[in-house]
Formats: sequence, structure tokens, C-alpha cells
Amino acid sequence: MEALKFVALVAHDHCKENMIAFATTHAALLKRHPLVATRTTGALLIKALNLDVLTMLSGPMGGDLQIGAMVAEGKIAAVIFLRDVMTAQPHEPDISALMRACDVHNIPLATNVATAHYVIAGLAAV
Ligand code: PGA
Repeated sequence: MEALKFVALVAHDHCKENMIAFATTHAALLKRHPLVATRTTGALLIKALNLDVLTMLSGPMGGDLQIGAMVAEGKIAAVIFLRDVMTAQPHEPDISALMRACDVHNIPLATNVATAHYVIAGLAAV
């Protein structure tokens, strides 16, 4: 049987509260999947919700690229990536690379909370 794929969770600093609220709402569904997150996002989810989360490097240190590599390797079911579009990010090329990997490999990518709700509902339906 194919291994269950990860749901990836990444939130920029100004979006971390939204991520915690989102994950709180969908904790039961999220617990059905292995979870992977960038370091700070993952640490917050573990602390706030006691979720089991594989944490990668922090986004600016290469975590987005690590998750992008997992997308390319077929290990990711969906990416929830709450981006702060009001603040310039030092790792903008890495962010683009992660989003590109999702498009190359046809992986659902939510970049705002409204879409994230649909993506999680969609995962639950399959
Ligand atoms: P972080 O990384 O979860 O370690 O804050 C997210 C990002 O800034 O891409």
C-alpha cells in the first residue's frame, strides 16, 4: 500500500496566528495525515495543538526548499502556505520554487485561509 502523503504547513510570521486558528479548526482532519512544516510554524503547531509534525529548517534557512523537494519526490498531498504578501521576504526565490514545484507536480497549494479550507475539505473527501 502506498504510504500516506504529508500535508505541508508553512506560515510567514504575520500569518502564524491564522495558521494556528486554521489548524485548530481542522485538527481532526489534519491528524489523519502525516504533517510536515517549516521549523517555527511546526514548533507552534506542536505547542498549541500537540500535533505530530515533522519539522524542517526554518523557511529563510531553506525549509521551503526542503518541502519543495518533498513535493517533487511525490511525498506531499497538499501544501497550505499562508504567505505574508505585505512584507518582502529574504527567501522569495525559495517561496517561488516551492509554489512552482506544486504547479509542476499538480499538487494542491493554498496560499490563503479561504482556499486552505477548501483544500482540507477536498482531502477529506478523497
Ligand atoms: P518558519 O518559516 O515556519 O520557520 O517561520 C516560514 C517561512 O518564513 O517561510
